[in-house]
Amino acid sequence: MALTGIEIFKLLAKTNCKQCGFPTCLAFAMKLAAKQVSIDACPFVSDDVKAMLGEASAPPIRKITIGTGDNQLTVGEETVLFRHEKTFVHQPGFALRIEDTASAAEIEKQLADVAAATMERVGQKLKFSLIAVKNVSKDKDKYLSAIKLVQSKCNLPLILVASNTDIMAAALEITAAAKPLIAPANEENYPVMADLAKKHSCPLVVAHSGGLEKLNDLSEKVQALGVKDLVLHPGHQDLSTTLAQLTQIRRTALKKAAKGLGFPVLESAIVEGDNPLDELGRASLLVMKYAAIIILSSAEIGKMLPLFTLRQNIYTDPQQPLQVEEKVYKIGEPTADSPVIITTNFSLTYFIVASEIENSKVPTWLVIADAEGMSVLTAWAADKFNAAKISKVINSTGIGNQVKNRKLIIPGYVAVLSGEVAEVLPDWKIVVGPREAGNLPAFLRNFQ
Ligand code: SF4
Repeated sequence: MALTGIEIFKLLAKTNCKQCGFPTCLAFAMKLAAKQVSIDACPFVSDDVKAMLGEASAPPIRKITIGTGDNQLTVGEETVLFRHEKTFVHQPGFALRIEDTASAAEIEKQLADVAAATMERVGQKLKFSLIAVKNVSKDKDKYLSAIKLVQSKCNLPLILVASNTDIMAAALEITAAAKPLIAPANEENYPVMADLAKKHSCPLVVAHSGGLEKLNDLSEKVQALGVKDLVLHPGHQDLSTTLAQLTQIRRTALKKAAKGLGFPVLESAIVEGDNPLDELGRASLLVMKYAAIIILSSAEIGKMLPLFTLRQNIYTDPQQPLQVEEKVYKIGEPTADSPVIITTNFSLTYFIVASEIENSKVPTWLVIADAEGMSVLTAWAADKFNAAKISKVINSTGIGNQVKNRKLIIPGYVAVLSGEVAEVLPDWKIVVGPREAGNLPAFLRNFQ
């Protein structure tokens, strides 16, 4: 649990010497509790106190990284139960399960589906994060062949799923450099799995389907063997039990009430009977309620689109609207005679306006002004999208040198600004555009 300002104050020298830049030790302690300053600003804090504060301020759910390079997945570090309290930090990764009993052609088809299940929405690329290769055959050679095939066709991080520790050891010999997540450490095999995880510095899944107490005990046993990077798997249960368990793990972890439960959770969305809608429903619940890694049986785009969208909506920071960069965007191949439209940098505004301009088939210069990620009316009301701001971005981008006609189209919702904008941009003719982006195609096709 993080310490309060008063608790931190009790650990300080209490001399009010001001060397930290604050008038009193209490003021410094309050800032420290709010994580707005570093403890290093006070030269009189002992190493013991620093260690205590560091431990107290560590996130209640450990950060775990799987894979290396650009595709690595980071999970954990969550600090709240509800998104409206603060924000969720790391979105869950979707992992496609591939079984080593599948033929090479079937595996290649599954990987092609993963590659195809990629979409871009409000400027973010949404895609699978992991491939889970499961040893179903119990045959080492078959398992290694499947892993090699996956590695040759796909650069996503791996989850190695093999209970047999000899097979897992062999699999790690060819994959350890890529830092896969390895699974499962259970009651039977955990000492050897812990050794393998330590030897190869790979994160390890601790699995127990006998309830959270037993899962916590097993996690503590594995930690006692020196493995710190763990992922929990409470086992495949019915939907309501899964919901209850994942909620309880999150609650307990946030309170730091059980040393074995302060880790991200892996769960499977796969439903026996292979009904894609059932799997979609289960996966949706896992996105909303605390899974960090979600295993899926297939990658058809019809299932992934709603899952990607749901995940993006829940894991967008409500305190930080999605924004695009302030600059001039070319829609089509605009020329010196093309119209110039200005709007704000709220992502949704940008993408809706840009797509309606594309629909019009009229090449256009789209100028985006930084309005702190607000939509047009909100930004205008907050004085973030005003004549001065519009003038500044028009001048700083140099768009006036790209066009001959110098007609600037402002959103219809801020028609009230047209007079002020004309005053600050005397070389431009200010035109009021439509209120709704949906009316832009007709407006642009008739624009002269
Ligand atoms: S430097 Fe340390 S002892 Fe001095 S006022 Fe700041 S917190 Fe207190």
